[in-house]
Amino acid sequence: MNNNKYRILVIEDEDNIKTFVSALLEANNYQVITAESCNSGLMMFNSHRPDLVILDLGLPDLDGTEFLKAIRKTSSVPVIVLSARTDESDKVSALDMGANDYVTKPFGSAELVARIRTALRSTRQGGGAGTQKFELDKLVIDYDSRRIYLDGEEIKLTQTEYNIVALLSEHCGKVMTYSAIVSAIWGYNDYGSKKKLQVNMANIRKKFGAAPGKDCYIINELGVGYRMDEIN
Ligand code: CA
Repeated sequence: MNNNKYRILVIEDEDNIKTFVSALLEANNYQVITAESCNSGLMMFNSHRPDLVILDLGLPDLDGTEFLKAIRKTSSVPVIVLSARTDESDKVSALDMGANDYVTKPFGSAELVARIRTALRSTRQGGGAGTQKFELDKLVIDYDSRRIYLDGEEIKLTQTEYNIVALLSEHCGKVMTYSAIVSAIWGYNDYGSKKKLQVNMANIRKKFGAAPGKDCYIINELGVGYRMDEIN
C-alpha cells in the first residue's frame, strides 16, 4: 500500500493553507504535489496525472474554474474545490463545471479527509489502489487506455461518448444533471448542448445494446439527467 499511494495535486496560492493541507494529506498517507497558480496547476496536472485535485478558486493568474474547464475536456479526475466563497451560485457553477465536491474555508481536517476518501472511492470501485479501472457487473472501463468493455467485448465509442460514460462512472449511483454533464464534457453550456448530449447518449445506449425503453447501466432520469447504476 505504501508504495502505491494516491497522488493528490493541491492548487492553492495561500502558503499557510497549502502547508496545512499538504501536511494533513501526507499524514493520511497520500502523496502530495502542489502548485500556486492555475497555469502551473495545469502543467503539474498534465505531467503528474494525479488521482485527485484540490483546487482553490481564487488564484493569482486565472480563476480556478478555468482549471476545471481545461481538464474536463479530457479528464474525469475527481476535483474538490476549496474556497472562501460562500455564495451558493459559486458552488453550483463549480459543480456544474465538473467539480465533484466543494469545501468552504475555514474547513476542518476531518471534513476534508472524509471528502477526499469519498471522492476517491467513487472513482475506484472494484479496482485496487494504483489501478485505473472501473468495474460494474459486466461493465469494465480502463481509464488509462480509455477503453470500455461489456461482457468482455470492447465497445467502440467516440472520444465524446467515452468521456460521457467515464464521467458517469466517476459519479456512479448519482444522478448527473444535463447541464452538469454538458459543462463537464464540452466546457460550456449553451442552447443546443442538451440536444447534443441526447444524441450522444442515444448512440451510447445503442452501442451498449440497450433495447428501446430498457436500461443499460446508464439510466435516463427523465427531465433531470443520467445516472450510471447496476442493472436490476
Ligand atoms: Ca487563493
